[in-house]
Amino acid sequence: MLVDVTGTPDFTARPKVELHVHLDCSLTRRALHRLGNPIGEAEFRRVFTAPERCDSLMDYLRAIGPSCEALQTAPALAIAMDELLRALADDGVIYAEIRFAPHTHQRGGLGLDQVMAAVTEGLAEGEAATGIKAGLLLCALRDYPPDENLKVIELAHRWRDRGVVGVDLAGDEAGHPAAANRRVFDRAHELSLPVTAHAGEAAGPDSLREVMALIAPARIGHGVRAIESDDLLAEIKARNLHLEVCPSSNIQVGVFGDYASHPVDRMSRRGLSLSINTDARTVAPLTLSLEYRRLSAAFGWQTGEFLAHNLEAVRHAFLPEEAKAGLGARLIEGWGG
Ligand SMILES: [Zn+2]
Repeated sequence: MLVDVTGTPDFTARPKVELHVHLDCSLTRRALHRLGNPIGEAEFRRVFTAPERCDSLMDYLRAIGPSCEALQTAPALAIAMDELLRALADDGVIYAEIRFAPHTHQRGGLGLDQVMAAVTEGLAEGEAATGIKAGLLLCALRDYPPDENLKVIELAHRWRDRGVVGVDLAGDEAGHPAAANRRVFDRAHELSLPVTAHAGEAAGPDSLREVMALIAPARIGHGVRAIESDDLLAEIKARNLHLEVCPSSNIQVGVFGDYASHPVDRMSRRGLSLSINTDARTVAPLTLSLEYRRLSAAFGWQTGEFLAHNLEAVRHAFLPEEAKAGLGARLIEGWGG
């Protein structure tokens, strides 16, 4: 157990916003059932989730493999997205940005636009069934050739206003500097696509500085290793960069040794703009409500902190301003009581 949450409030009914969750790390058992795989709970946990604390990144990646394997057909992508929205709704999420790397779903022969057609079909079904709103972020991968990543940027441009709200840089941070993908994100900026980028998780302040200088994202996925440099923290704050923080995920892969030493509370107290996210709902396994209980148990977070960070998430969501106003009002109403 990462944190004993006994006695903490149940946050399920509270409205929440999630900006950082991966489709291929969040495949639900219900989706597998709908796809004809009658897998039981114990077997599902064994195959599709990683240990709470992984001994190596291999332990973690081993759990993502079967999900990726399952998401290579149009029906699988549509159903996985639909079921993820239902799981988000059950968790009290009212707006989510869901990310995936389209070019990793082509092993069954799908073209990139076919991948998008399937995912957006599931998105529409899930939104209609639950009433929640979600946007898609398409991931370029550090360990993929820039030319392949450029196709993802052009794809995001083609599917903008049909579900896509922005693009992301993901993949192996420690082994692949962001520099190789600079022109990929120059193109994203040229097309006015909102950009977020994973950094400051597997590598430290230098990697964050590189991404800020070369990729120029509006948000950073994780960014928690900025805690190693006061200057960097000050710069992130001065630039109004938003950090998508995923505490349990960081501990699972060993970025921090235990929950109590995670810097999220210190970063929050220093006034950085940050949101709380699951990263990988199935691989963890985790809900946002459980993550909030852990923050409540470990750092004493209460309504004030949770509401403030949800409002920051909305402020930095890749959404038109008029949509943000409605979400903000729902958050204030839902956390006010
Ligand atoms: Zn991530």
